[in-house]
Amino acid sequence: MQDPILLTGGTGFIGAHTATALASAKLPFVILDNLSNSSAKVLDRLARLNASPLAFVNADVRDAQALDAVFARFKFSGVIHFAGLKAVGESVAQPLRYFDNNVNGTLQLLQAMQRAGVKKIVFSSSATVYGDPASVPIREDAALSATNPYGRSKLLCEDMLRELARVDNSWKIALLRYFNPVGAHESGLLGESPHGVPNNLMPFMTQVAMGQREHLQIFGNDYDTPDGTGMRDYLHVMDLAQGHLAALQALDAPKLLTVNLGTGQGVSVKQMVDTFARVTGVPIAHRFVARRPGDIAQCWADPTLAQQLLGWKAQLGLDRMCADAWRWQSMNPQGFDTSL
Ligand code: NAD
Ligand code: UDP
Repeated sequence: MQDPILLTGGTGFIGAHTATALASAKLPFVILDNLSNSSAKVLDRLARLNASPLAFVNADVRDAQALDAVFARFKFSGVIHFAGLKAVGESVAQPLRYFDNNVNGTLQLLQAMQRAGVKKIVFSSSATVYGDPASVPIREDAALSATNPYGRSKLLCEDMLRELARVDNSWKIALLRYFNPVGAHESGLLGESPHGVPNNLMPFMTQVAMGQREHLQIFGNDYDTPDGTGMRDYLHVMDLAQGHLAALQALDAPKLLTVNLGTGQGVSVKQMVDTFARVTGVPIAHRFVARRPGDIAQCWADPTLAQQLLGWKAQLGLDRMCADAWRWQSMNPQGFDTSL
């Protein structure tokens, strides 16, 4: 059997979907997660999808002892580091918590990897590192900036990893800048299950469609975009999962890879609402309200480099994203607490 991969944050939204992609490719893995933003019930769902980890370790990435123990127990071929906090608004209210969890967490992990002699890491970065981009589509060499503590935490981690690669040429590092992952596993057994009121468009929309929320607030219809609503690059979470496999494969020698993972298509909030209604047959009640502070008008990727360096290209379109998100939400009205 091949040496396993360590997935930190592997019970979260993107981590769990990536786990199924690893299992389909017959790549063994271990999950380490402190369950701060996920449910242990994800593990039952992974088992039903024949995607169980070799082990699940309930631990924090800032816990050096727990990290040393897992690196002593398994000989890992590499790490995919998903573990992190991701709510922009929360990061403004609690910046130091974000720096501790995301930046210190990444530092502790890298130190443990160095102690164990494991020097291959795929890091979950974000399109947020481009701040308010000067133009779209965004290439990887665009200017970087942070507009909130969450974004700053991702930039600080990127800086740390870039510097590490520059001074120590034994590391294999991929910085994957995700655009807007949505959708769900096509089985309906895995999906996004935010605690409380969703911040993101797709989970809010699916909850409105379920009747769990009265209407969607569309934040701004006076942007300089064709229909006035904000535009983003939504990509299917299973395409994103495949991007991680491609990155692991591309890290066959010490190097630093920095790539956007997006479709290259800008989609407006209005287009998303209309597509969801057409695909599912369920209209989304909505109202236009003021812009959300900190939002940008438009953000989408130039995904050319991902194709060149990783041989990766998004395959699944907006219709599939809506259909799969809706299947997940309708089968799991209480998220992972739904008994299926
Ligand atoms: P998620 O919250 O669903 O998953 C993150 C997981 O990490 C959760 O299971 C959580 O319990 C765990 N975790 C958090 N802090 C931890 C710690 N200190 N120790 C151990 N486990 C910890 O989020 P996601 O959407 O799956 O995102 C995964 C990664 O991708 C995050 O780093 C996020 O910042 C990044 N990202 C996400 C998006 C997005 O829109 N979902 C976009 C760009 C980047
Ligand atoms: N959005 C919205 N109503 C919501 C949530 C989001 O109109 O309840 C809009 C938001 O203004 C942005 C787009 O949907 O234009 C995507 O927002 P999301 O929070 O999902 O992602 P991000 O802001 O991180 O790109």
